[in-house]
Amino acid sequence: MRKRIVAGNWKMNKTPAEAKALIEVLKPLVGSSEETEVVFCPPFLDIAVAVEAVKGTNIKIGAQNMYYEEKGAYTGEVAPDMLVGAGCEYVILGHSERRGYFGETNEIVNKKVLKALEHGLKPIICVGETLEQREQGITEDLVRLQTKIALKDVSPEDAVKTVIAYEPIWAIGTGKTATNEQAEEVCAAIRKVLTEVYGKEVAEEIRIQYGGSVNAGNAKELFAMPNIDGGLVGGASLKADFSDIVNA
Ligand code: PEP
Repeated sequence: MRKRIVAGNWKMNKTPAEAKALIEVLKPLVGSSEETEVVFCPPFLDIAVAVEAVKGTNIKIGAQNMYYEEKGAYTGEVAPDMLVGAGCEYVILGHSERRGYFGETNEIVNKKVLKALEHGLKPIICVGETLEQREQGITEDLVRLQTKIALKDVSPEDAVKTVIAYEPIWAIGTGKTATNEQAEEVCAAIRKVLTEVYGKEVAEEIRIQYGGSVNAGNAKELFAMPNIDGGLVGGASLKADFSDIVNA
């Protein structure tokens, strides 16, 4: 039985003081959730404050990115050890904004996934298509490829620690959500590719999230789909409403 997971991607929002204030609002609402794993992914500079603020609750902290080298002359980058040392358990990798604005390729995402796992961080690996790709009918091909390359050389023991987030790019921050059926169709295709690579037993253990304008109104139906094990939430994770999504 896969434990549901709802993660909030705060993106480039909230100063450390604002992060602390938001966590104080959310903590009593989602802090004791047991059925659903709750993860907050604040910006790097808020991580220390966030780790401190969630102490004594079930909330986990994740980062939004990470570099694939251990240390050295990589100005502006953040290493896996730094995230582990700061108290992160998860790290979002390959978000479409990283791919789109910062040129992250599938191969870079794979390097990051391998490095994160080597350091005991659990990657939330984002995959998803643009509207143009959907209209061209290549969504499943693309998502299969993104998933397969991201997991290249990842052992079955490590694969079960990863979470795949299906995030259609046209649904991110646009208020347009994939229908339950569209989301389930692609998440089922991801489960299929995981089965091809790792076999049924491992594939059934890996959690798949849907992300893209999830809100308190649509979360319940999306999360009820057989291959959707929770959500990666952007905009709605910055408000008290996030608790309604977790409770969905
Ligand atoms: C995201 O960026 O991961 C996301 C899903 O954003 P939003 O919920 O705002 O669409």
